[in-house]
Amino acid sequence: MNTPQSGGAPTPAPDSPFAAGLYIVATPIGNLGDLSPRAAAILGGAAVIAAEDTRVTAKLLHHIGARVPMLAYHDHNDDMLRPALIARALREAVALVSDAGTPLISDPGYKLVRDARAAGVNIVTIPGPCAAIAGLTLSGLPTDRFLFAGFLPAKAGARATAIAELAGIRATLVLYESGPRLAASLAALATGLGDRAAAVAREISKRFEEAVTGTLSELAARYAEAPPRGEIVIIIAPPGAAPAADAATLDTALATALAATSLKSAVAEVAATLNLPRATVYARALALKAGDAPA
Ligand code: SAM
Repeated sequence: MNTPQSGGAPTPAPDSPFAAGLYIVATPIGNLGDLSPRAAAILGGAAVIAAEDTRVTAKLLHHIGARVPMLAYHDHNDDMLRPALIARALREAVALVSDAGTPLISDPGYKLVRDARAAGVNIVTIPGPCAAIAGLTLSGLPTDRFLFAGFLPAKAGARATAIAELAGIRATLVLYESGPRLAASLAALATGLGDRAAAVAREISKRFEEAVTGTLSELAARYAEAPPRGEIVIIIAPPGAAPAADAATLDTALATALAATSLKSAVAEVAATLNLPRATVYARALALKAGDAPA
């Protein structure tokens, strides 16, 4: 276990928003009313705010009437800025925000927290909005076990591989997506996961918030006709206890998967999609490869 080191700074009071430290501050994902009073207090009282995009955060500061110096901290300069930010967080309050939602969640910040912790910085999180959690709560799908998988890769091959890795996971899946890519991603998910129940949560906490439910293929067809605007979370039901597939369905699915990917991935993908034991699918895949006639 790593214990915080002193870092040479006086021990800060962990609950004081103005003590030295790194404050991870969640900000609204649409509705400014979702900024918590505690988040507003630390944003107004920090010595400096490390922001993903200072223009975006400037609007939030304007909303709360705060004037606090900001530094841009993003994927292109984080390695360079991190040491100086950590040095400051040892002697004063540094707030970390992303453009919207919870920093570090598909946003910069993880390495800053990792290195700040190693340097003995007092680290405090101010929890709040997160699109993944908000989308999950809107979906009506099981919430007891879920996997957040961020954004799928943009390229079709890498996307299919990523989806195949998710196929066997017995949990609700939560993904981020953009409007222009939504229909293609939903279609690829239907192919790779099977036609599971799903939801598309869009523009959460904004004027046109909606959550549309259906099977993956239904949703793919809907959004292929009219690509949606705005920000999107896809939520997908876990693999269900569907009736076992018949021999012909298994052979067709295996033939398609084997043509596209390795034996191992094909077996994993088909076993998850058709809800069949891996050993059964593996044995059938070997037989088909050895020249057995399809059912
Ligand atoms: N850190 C953020 C969070 O906690 O939600 C997520 C940052 S990630 C770069 C941005 C993605 O989150 C968007 O492309 C979209 O998929 C999702 N997102 C953000 N705000 C959203 C909203 N209001 N409604 C639906 N999805 C949203």
